[in-house]
Amino acid sequence: MAQKENPQLDSFAGPSSQGSSRFPDRISNLGDRRKDTRKFLHWLRHQDTTNRPDLAKAQAKLSSCGDWLAFNHYYTVDQIRLSACHTCDMPLLCSFCGSRRGSKYLQKYLERFKIVMAQKPHLKPVMLTLTTKNGEDLEERFTHFMKSLRKLLKKRRNAKKGVSRTELEKAVGGVYSVETTNKGKGWHVHMHAIVLLDDWIDREELSREWQAITRDGSKILDVRRLGKGSEIFDQEGNITPKLLEAFAEVFKYAVKFSDLDHSDRLHAWETMRGKRLVGSWGEFWGVEVPPGSLDDLLEDLPYMQLIYRFKRNAYNLASIRDFDDQGNPVGDGARTWEERPTGRTRTTPGHRPAISDHEE
Ligand SMILES: [Zn+2]
Repeated sequence: MAQKENPQLDSFAGPSSQGSSRFPDRISNLGDRRKDTRKFLHWLRHQDTTNRPDLAKAQAKLSSCGDWLAFNHYYTVDQIRLSACHTCDMPLLCSFCGSRRGSKYLQKYLERFKIVMAQKPHLKPVMLTLTTKNGEDLEERFTHFMKSLRKLLKKRRNAKKGVSRTELEKAVGGVYSVETTNKGKGWHVHMHAIVLLDDWIDREELSREWQAITRDGSKILDVRRLGKGSEIFDQEGNITPKLLEAFAEVFKYAVKFSDLDHSDRLHAWETMRGKRLVGSWGEFWGVEVPPGSLDDLLEDLPYMQLIYRFKRNAYNLASIRDFDDQGNPVGDGARTWEERPTGRTRTTPGHRPAISDHEE
């Protein structure tokens, strides 16, 4: 895939399918995410947690999230995958887990998108944004938004059965995420979606439908064309940066919580945790995104396992170990970078690691 050259994807600390060339960026971005989580944790530790066992639990989980990472470097095909780590799995609170979540969604939905567009090249991808009015009460605004969205999606289902009609029935597939911001003018709940159209949507008409559903003057709706044919895939068949950016925009939803100030981030988590913030229909229906932070691993290939530890605000390589194509350790144990065998044919993962930070 062409994601390796796309800076938009840095917010996810790199997608899983990258090789060694961008690995230094990936590890440095993951370090930044972990740093952000540590900052939030520092703030949270100064809050009153009396009678709040959930906060005490969240503190404990955040404190050990991402303190070490194991990557498998499949050097014969130059692929580096996150193969083990301990994470908090609270993507709305934790920037590290938010970026891992987004990255996994992105990967899986891009795979589906490629398949659908290969089978149905006439479909037109567009980015659809729906918003509701800002308000002081996040719970009320979030509930209102979700109810309105469900009504619109129900209209689409009914239209398919011929019971009603809506502009959205032209969207034969869609994947969306719901996010919230607060820039001092109240809570702003909104949705970004990639939808696949078999006919152009009448924006004004859809806007009228959305107003009739929300009944709060929420007419802000944006439909952005993302191109067709060669504008979607380049000559090598890779998805173009414009499309990648649009998908990244949708799946950045979890990372966006880290942009809220700390008390707003905590409040958003309290209000929206456990709620489904990503949904899909039609051609995007049924994409499975496994839970947790790890990448899909490759089979029947030898690899080097790289263990990184977080110290002094960054991830540092602590040890390396070789495994054969059946996952059995080769040699007599873990080595430091200096002790690695030389003269072997394999790609090394980018920058020279700071092995002096190895904690033992
Ligand atoms: Zn985490």
